[in-house]
Formats: sequence, structure tokens, C-alpha cells
Amino acid sequence: MSQSIPAAAPIRVRQDVLAVPAYRQGKAPSKNGFKLSSNENPFPPLPQVVAAIAGRLDFNRYNAADVTALRTQIAKTENTALLERATTLGTPAPAAPLTAAHVHVQGAGSVSILYQLIAATCGPGSNYVYPWPSFEAYPMLGLIPAATARAIPLREDATHDLTAIAAAVDENTGAVLLCTPNNPTSTIITKAEFAEFMAQVPSDVLVVLDEAYAEFVTESQAVRGTEVLQQYPNLVVLRTFAKGWGLAGLRLGYGFAAPELWQAVAPAGIPLSVNSLSETAALAALTPAASAQMRERAQIIVQRRQDLTAGLRQLGFAVPQPQGNFVWVPAASLTPHTAVALADYLAEQDILVRPFADYGVRISVGEAQSVPAVLNACAAFLGKESK
Ligand SMILES: *Cc1c(COP(=O)(O)O)cnc(C)c1O
Repeated sequence: MSQSIPAAAPIRVRQDVLAVPAYRQGKAPSKNGFKLSSNENPFPPLPQVVAAIAGRLDFNRYNAADVTALRTQIAKTENTALLERATTLGTPAPAAPLTAAHVHVQGAGSVSILYQLIAATCGPGSNYVYPWPSFEAYPMLGLIPAATARAIPLREDATHDLTAIAAAVDENTGAVLLCTPNNPTSTIITKAEFAEFMAQVPSDVLVVLDEAYAEFVTESQAVRGTEVLQQYPNLVVLRTFAKGWGLAGLRLGYGFAAPELWQAVAPAGIPLSVNSLSETAALAALTPAASAQMRERAQIIVQRRQDLTAGLRQLGFAVPQPQGNFVWVPAASLTPHTAVALADYLAEQDILVRPFADYGVRISVGEAQSVPAVLNACAAFLGKESK
């Protein structure tokens, strides 16, 4: 659908703001359809999370601004995850544990932390660098600070071109955004690639490692930013409760960085943005029992991801090894068809996916039945039988 841009606003609005279409959400499927277009978690909220929210009734008051209880719990949970990963991989445990001071939480999701970080580091005349295609919010972050958005194409294999990204950093660069697994291609940055990249970027340029899908990563070589956080005073590792934790509608994002970094960017954040219900839900989700259930669910989604990938590859699509809760069908492997044609065809079958014109189609891993539904519909699209 086309977005109409008002010729004249009723108030004095910046021309650069007027020139940009506002965010539009994809449509909802019918009751029996599948919404595989927003990388949401198909599982309903855990009962203990629902119960905790229902019990939090003091919202006539402001929530505590520093959300210390939640930040403490996030740090603890991550320390446990890091220790488990080190044990599994046989690598040394991180030298010093993360503390509440390393954690920043904001309402309106981790996208609001991205806005805060770009606002704090960029202004007119400066730029920020990011891969493309990647998270659709990235190009928008420079609008209000009037900073230049510098998009660097992915490599042929749908991974970050870290050499080109590092080369695009100059004396006017405020920030670099990296996304692993990358939305929409589901490809990762490895530990070695990340270390090499960080060695090339000036240590006073902010690097954001957006790990919105960290809970679904199974590849042992994938970088996990919190493992190396304390080596880099300029690194932010961004996470969210929206995807793996399945709390998208509660809009809560968080990040890890050096305490001094968070102090420096604090004035660019929105005070008291974390509402009391979201905080309560997140605390309930981070209890050991609920965390374990979250991880079980993530494993189920990983299994479905493998089934979906295998099926799509059998149909001839060159799906890169996925590490998020979504898979990527590159446009090149759809020829002579297009990404938009495939997405439109699936929408007619009540399966909503996200096309990126010229680039490919992103398909979220949804309900169990969504996997055969997608494979059958893709086979029908190609005029083939699904195996
Ligand atoms: C979904 C997503 C986010 C943030 O989601 P919020 O709902 O704002 O927390 C951030 N980065 C990427 C790459 C995402 O896909």
C-alpha cells in the first residue's frame, strides 16, 4: 500500500521528518492463518508471568526509575548463561561477572535503546554505519539527530561485510551497528570476525552488537558479546524481551556495556520509560524455572527452524545457515520469481511473511503446523510437489 505524505502539516514540522513515511505494521492473518512476518514467539506467555502481572496493582505510582531489581536479575541470568556456555564449550569462564551497573533497561523495546545511543553519539554532520539489509529500524535512527545513515551491503553469502564496515568508519562516525544473528538473513558474526573487527575500529567509536535473537543461537563459533564485553569500553550488547523471552507486547529492551558508557549516554534516554507491569513480567520470566521453560521453547523453535530450512533447501532455495527464529530465502535463488511474488502468494494462502524487495524473503519460525504449511505453499508456488 502506498503511504501518502502530507503536502503541508498543520504545525511547523521539519521537512526531513515530513519527507519520511511513518512506520506501518504488516496486516494480521485470519484466525487460521500464520503470522510469520514479525519474528514473534509463537508460544503464549508463561502462566507465572501472567500471574505476576495480575498481582502488580500499585500502578497509580511511578515505577522505580533505576529498575535495580530487574538490572540485577538480568546480570545474574547472563552470568549463569555465560558460565554454562563456557562449561559446554570447554572455554574459560569470564574473568569478572557482570553487575547491575553493566545493564541498562528501557521501555518501548531495545529499539528505544538504539534511538538513545544514536541520539547520544550522532548529530548533524556525523554518520553511523550499519549493514544492509538488516533491521528495518536502523536507517531511521539518524532522522531526528540529522545524522547520515551509512548502509554497507551484505556480502554475497548474506553475512556482514565487516571489512567494508570498518573501512566506512571515519572521524565523523558516531556509531557502528552490527546485528548477529542478522535480521533478516539469520546469519551470524563469528568470534574471530568480531575480534578482528574491533581491532580495526577506533576504541572511542561506539559499536553496538544487536543480539535480539541471542536465545536461538546454537553455533559455537558465534560471537556472544557479553563474553568479551569487558575487553571493550566502546561496546554495547543489545538484547530484548521481545523474541526469545516471548514478551514482545510488553516492550522491554536491555543492553550490556561498561558502567561509564551507560552514564555517558544516560541524558539521551527517556527517564522512567520502564513501566511497572513490564518490569514485573520480566522479573517473573527471569526466575530459574521460567528461564528453563523459555530455553526449552527456544530449543523447540530451533528444531522447527532446522526442519523448515531442510525443506526449503530441498525446494531449491539457497537458505543460509539460520541462527535466529527465522530463515532467509535469498532473491537470487527465487529467479525467475521475485521476493514480493512469493510473499504475495503465501499471503493468499494466509501465511504472512516479510519480503525485502530485490533481496529476499524472511520467514519467521512459528507454530508447529506452520512449517509444513510454508513448505507446501512454497512447493505449490514453484509448481512442485513438497517432499
Ligand atoms: C526485534 C528486533 C529488535 C528489537 O525489538 P524490540 O521489540 O524493540 O525490543 C532489535 N533488533 C533487532 C535486530 C530486531 O530484530
